Formats: sequence, C-alpha cells, structure tokens
Amino acid sequence: MAHPQEQLIRSPSVRHPSTAEEAWRLKRELGAGAVFVAGGTLLRTQWEAGLVPYPAHLIDLAGVAEMTGVGPPDTAGSGWRIGALTSLAECRSHPGLAAASPLVKEAARVIAAPAVRNLATIGGNVLSRTGDMATALLALDAQLIWLDFAGTLAEPLSAWLDREREGSGGAPGLLTAILLPARDGITVNSKTRRYCAFHKVGRREAFIPPVVNVALDVAFDEGGVVADIRIAAGGGTMIPARLTAAEALMRGRTADAALLSALHAAVQEEYAPKPDPLVDEAFRRMTAANLVAAALWEAGRDARASEEGGESCC
Ligand SMILES: Cc1cc2nc3c(=O)[nH]c(=O)nc-3n(C[C@H](O)[C@H](O)[C@H](O)COP(=O)(O)OP(=O)(O)OC[C@H]3O[C@@H](n4cnc5c(N)ncnc54)[C@H](O)[C@@H]3O)c2cc1C
Repeated sequence: MAHPQEQLIRSPSVRHPSTAEEAWRLKRELGAGAVFVAGGTLLRTQWEAGLVPYPAHLIDLAGVAEMTGVGPPDTAGSGWRIGALTSLAECRSHPGLAAASPLVKEAARVIAAPAVRNLATIGGNVLSRTGDMATALLALDAQLIWLDFAGTLAEPLSAWLDREREGSGGAPGLLTAILLPARDGITVNSKTRRYCAFHKVGRREAFIPPVVNVALDVAFDEGGVVADIRIAAGGGTMIPARLTAAEALMRGRTADAALLSALHAAVQEEYAPKPDPLVDEAFRRMTAANLVAAALWEAGRDARASEEGGESCC
C-alpha cells in the first residue's frame, strides 16, 4: 500500500449517478477500484488511518433520490422501508418510524454525535458490519434490499451477517433499502404488550463504538407469558448475532426470577465476543447477560403493570 501522503496527492475520479441502476452500472464498469460513498464518515476515518487504500474512483451516492426516505414498502405487504441513504439523524427524528420502531430510534440516538449522524447513513452503518444499527435491526428481523448481478433481491440481514462471519468479503452489490417487516405470527390482542430495548456499553458513554451492545424485541401475552422474542448482541469487532438459544429458553414461559436467572447464564454461554486486548472477555459476557436480563425484567414488570389497559413501548 502506498504511503498515505503519497495517496493524498492522487485524486480519484468522482462519479455522481442519479439512479441506483446507474450507480451499480458504474461499479460494474469500474470494478474493484471503485468505491460507493454514502455519508463518507467511515471511509474517511479508514483512509486517514491508512486502513484501506484511497480508491481510483468514488461513486458518490448522494444524488440517488430513490435510495432516500422512510415510508411503507413499495410492494404489497406492511412494515417500513428505510432508504439506505437515510441519515442516522433522520432515523432518530422521523416521527412515524420512531413510533413504529423505537429500537431504530434508540440505536441512532447513541451512535456518534450530531455532526456525524447528520452525514452518516443507515446503509453505511449496517455495511460497516460492527455498528450499533445492525444489532438493533437484527432484533427486528430486517431485510436488506440489494441491487446486484442478479437484479433486485431481498436478503435477511441475519443471512448476510452469517456470510460475513464466514468471511464472504463485503457487500455483494448496492444496498438500496432496508425493510422492517410487520411482526407476523404473533397473536395480537388487547392483552398483548410489546417492548423493546437497546443498550450499549462503551469506553465512554457516547461518541464511541460499542464494547457490548444488545437489542431486544419482546411481546408478552396475557399473564406475562413471552409470546415472541428476539435478542441480538454485538460489540467490539464482533459481527452481531441473534441469541437464539436464549430466545428459545424464554418463548412461551413467564419471565419470573428463576427464568431470568437461567437466561442470564444462557446469554453468557451463547454471546461470543471476539478477543479484544483491552477488554476482558468474561467482563463482556457478563455485561451482555446483565443488560439482557435487566431489560427483560423491566419489560416483564411493565407488561404486568399495563395489563389492565396501559400502553406498550413498541
Ligand atoms: C467520530 C465517529 C464516531 C462514531 N461512532 C460510532 C458509534 O458510536 N456507533 C457506530 O455504530 N458507529 C460509529 N461510527 C461509525 C459510523 O457509524 C459510520 O461511520 C457510519 O454510519 C457509516 O455511514 P456512512 O454513510 O458515513 O458510510 P460510508 O463511510 O460512506 O461507507 C461505509 C462503507 O459502506 C459502503 N457503502 C455505503 N453505502 C453503501 C450502499 N448503499 N451500498 C453499498 N455499499 C455502501 C462504502 O463503500 C464503505 O465501504 C463513528 C464514526 C465516527 C467518524
């Protein structure tokens, strides 16, 4: 790799596509030397630190209007479509999204500071693989909409992260949008209560990547029985993952003290952080277990309290 100073004096060509098709065509034509730029916040950090080489070509996505905006999906079905270029600031402030999916809002709230959130996009954060948003979106069963050699296709975020864990080598195409499906398979009645939580522990409280993050989306039926639950955890250089054994332990059961104690042990067992020379692995396992068990305890308490007509948070 050339010295950063040497790279600085080489100016990459900059392309400004106005459609997703055009952006993907440029990438195909220009090949591995071309890089998509969304908010540029991560790329800039990587270039300045000499972690990745300056590319020969930049494909600036800022003019691709179809990759912006938050609203219902274009195709049949319910849920939300978030354009990949939606800024983290908008994810935090969009009133409809915040009401429908407080997890997205909460994750956006704790990423970096306002100046970064105004530029950084949800797509760029997900594709960084270790950002806070991927953990939140995993707990929501989000889908990624790619434009690639096969055309437009939807892929579960969990499937792409699994491939990345095996070292598949990054985004397979242009990420155009993220879909949040409506929650299916849950008996929603007047007694069903949904809760969600996103917690992050870093070396500082804010403006720093997570050491541990956890996201939780849970529905309680009458009597405090867990009808549906999704738990995801990440942090450090670990690619976030669902904690499916911990979820299975809770499903169909009442979140009482004994079950929460078993859950605490299950999370410590299942959460698998990558080694970090500065943070002890046992500390990270314990922290993840504490965050998940405390969030479920609070959710169960609120569900019991609101069973007689109160509001749930998700
Ligand atoms: C000071 C600072 C603090 C930060 N704190 C946090 C934090 O607390 N938590 C956290 O999670 N992150 C944090 N980050 C990282 C930040 O989240 C990411 O920098 C940001 O979300 C990336 O979005 P972006 O739009 O700027 O991506 P870019 O830098 O533009 O792109 C990132 C990568 O994704 C690719 N890419 C982008 N969009 C697309 C697309 N639509 N299709 C295909 N490929 C694409 C790019 O080619 C590049 O490889 C911080 C960054 C900074 C600079």
